[in-house]
Amino acid sequence: MSDRLPGFSTLAVHAGAQPDPTTGARATPIYQTTSFVFNDADHAASLFGLQAFGNIYTRIGNPTNAVLEERVAALEGGTAALAVASGHAAQVVILQQLLQPGDEFIAARKLYGGSINQFTHAFKSFGWNVVWADPDDIASFERAVTPRTKAIFIESIANPAGSITDIEAISTVARKAGVPLIVDNTLASPYLIRPIDHGADIVVHSLTKFLGGHGNSLGGIIVDAGTFDWSTGGKYPMLSEPRPEYHGIRLQETFGNFAFAIACRVLGLRDLGPALSPFNAFMILTGIETLPLRMQKHCDNAKAVAEFLAGHPAVASVSYAGLASDKYNQLARKYAPKGAGAVFTFSLKGGYDAGVNLVSKLQLFSHLANVGDTRSLVIHPASTTHSQLDDAAKVKSGAGPDVVRLSVGIEDKEDLIADLEQALGA
Ligand SMILES: *Cc1c(COP(=O)(O)O)cnc(C)c1O
Repeated sequence: MSDRLPGFSTLAVHAGAQPDPTTGARATPIYQTTSFVFNDADHAASLFGLQAFGNIYTRIGNPTNAVLEERVAALEGGTAALAVASGHAAQVVILQQLLQPGDEFIAARKLYGGSINQFTHAFKSFGWNVVWADPDDIASFERAVTPRTKAIFIESIANPAGSITDIEAISTVARKAGVPLIVDNTLASPYLIRPIDHGADIVVHSLTKFLGGHGNSLGGIIVDAGTFDWSTGGKYPMLSEPRPEYHGIRLQETFGNFAFAIACRVLGLRDLGPALSPFNAFMILTGIETLPLRMQKHCDNAKAVAEFLAGHPAVASVSYAGLASDKYNQLARKYAPKGAGAVFTFSLKGGYDAGVNLVSKLQLFSHLANVGDTRSLVIHPASTTHSQLDDAAKVKSGAGPDVVRLSVGIEDKEDLIADLEQALGA
């Protein structure tokens, strides 16, 4: 064996997986079982008391899901990961470990529309208060910090406009405030950006998007960077205080640099219950094997489509960080040198009606509310994903009435451009 550390594409195919020890199966089997037989009564007791690692029940862990967890932890450079049923479930599980009722977290205003809704409404009923900040104004994060702030949440490449967030600058604010930085890396995937290399303490994904990559399976994942000290000042009692559910053990003390991933599993997933189906884990693992190939093609196609749109007379503006003229191009060169992702927006001179019209004329682009599929997708955020926001909030979050969002797929770019040309011209 050579001493070389495996590269990203090798990890995407192999990390976490071995031939099945019983059957020799080379692809990771789908362990479609709810539960696992204990060796004996002592073994059962030690599993329940967290004195030994092993399988108990698929709500808490499953061998297929474990391969997915190890693979994404390796690709992101984290210490451990926990897979759950969806990206939104991952966000709930993360914040449940960090916030008590009455606590606050700061979130970048440019976010996936579903996250804006979840943070504003659902989390309010848990007593978790979101305070918005502007990712283009780092000082707005500093101003938002209070003694009740427990975390900062940003997207690496932000929905819907594909803008690039200055992760290092915001991580400096988080460090000064003594709170973890959570980065939603869904739109970048670890192929384009590895937030832990830039100071993130926790990375979260909707696996539903580029990691799964084929628009067929929901999933979410939480990656623990192992960088945060949870013991400071009793601020994070779920991690630092004795847990009555587990004979009084303290998770940080017992599990060290993967305590956060353990907390998410044994306090979050076990008690809230959003387990990922092993079948979905298998589908997503298969998708991840081709992540580097797909992501590069997504980015190359997106750049070609953005350049075409920028030169079209019906188009008022294009927001794609991969264009040299874009205001985020400098940040894109720093954080995502292989490509600026495949999700971006453009605005039409004809406003709201032109947006609705375009979406109805496109044929190859599917009109639907998803991103990160092999297929090219289109949506008009103002009339769909962001329709709950008032006009000012729509504009602030990058979803004004004239804005159309694309998720560029891996088809031939000439066909995508031809489809846009006929729809814009008609
Ligand atoms: C889709 C998405 C989510 C939510 O993930 P689900 O798997 O749909 O629950 C969160 N963040 C971003 C950036 C997303 O695109």
